[in-house]
Parts: sequence; structure tokens; C-alpha cells
Amino acid sequence: MTDPRSGTLLCVVLRSLNVSEGTSKGWVRTPMLLPRTEHLPARPAWDCLVCEHAWPCANAKADLTGQYLRFPAGLAIYMASVMYDAVEDLTATGEPTPADLYERFLAWVG
Ligand SMILES: [Zn+2]
Repeated sequence: MTDPRSGTLLCVVLRSLNVSEGTSKGWVRTPMLLPRTEHLPARPAWDCLVCEHAWPCANAKADLTGQYLRFPAGLAIYMASVMYDAVEDLTATGEPTPADLYERFLAWVG
């Protein structure tokens, strides 16, 4: 696959559908193209590795918006995918699902 945008989309869709690429061994987490920002989430807390604000921080939002400028639907798909990862991490020890997840992960995606 040569188009990085479609590669990202394919991996996100496969992850969302719980489908693996080219294996018969069942679910294997598919590699995703990493967002081109240094402001990445530190899991499982989901705070920014660089500025320690709740991720996505303002810098991550700006970087991701620029990266997906020509493919904004891809950003929405990507953010929905990572929101599910965040829900898993943030509720792993029995905490209730944070009430602000939509605003934090998706509301800013235009
Ligand atoms: Zn940051």
C-alpha cells in the first residue's frame, strides 16, 4: 500500500472491526501509521508525553488537524479508534467511563 492515508484508514478500520491482516492465528493488533506529532498519549493515563496535558493536547490537535487536512474523515476515524483504546485503559481498574470523552476525542474534529 503506497498511499499513507489509505494505509491509516485500512489499519483503523481493521482494528475497529477486530480483524487481522494476513494471519490465520486470530486477532493480532495491526500496526497503525503513527500520527506525525511528538505529542502522543502516555498510556494508560492518556496524558501527553510532552506537555502532560490531557491528550489530545492543543499541540496534538493542531498537528493531527494539519496531518489530516486533506482527509478529515480519516482523523475522525482515527480519533474514534483511539477513544476506544482510552476507554479500555481509563476503565481497566473499575473506574466509571469519563463523561468528557466525546468532547475530548471527537468534538474538536472538524
Ligand atoms: Zn502535548
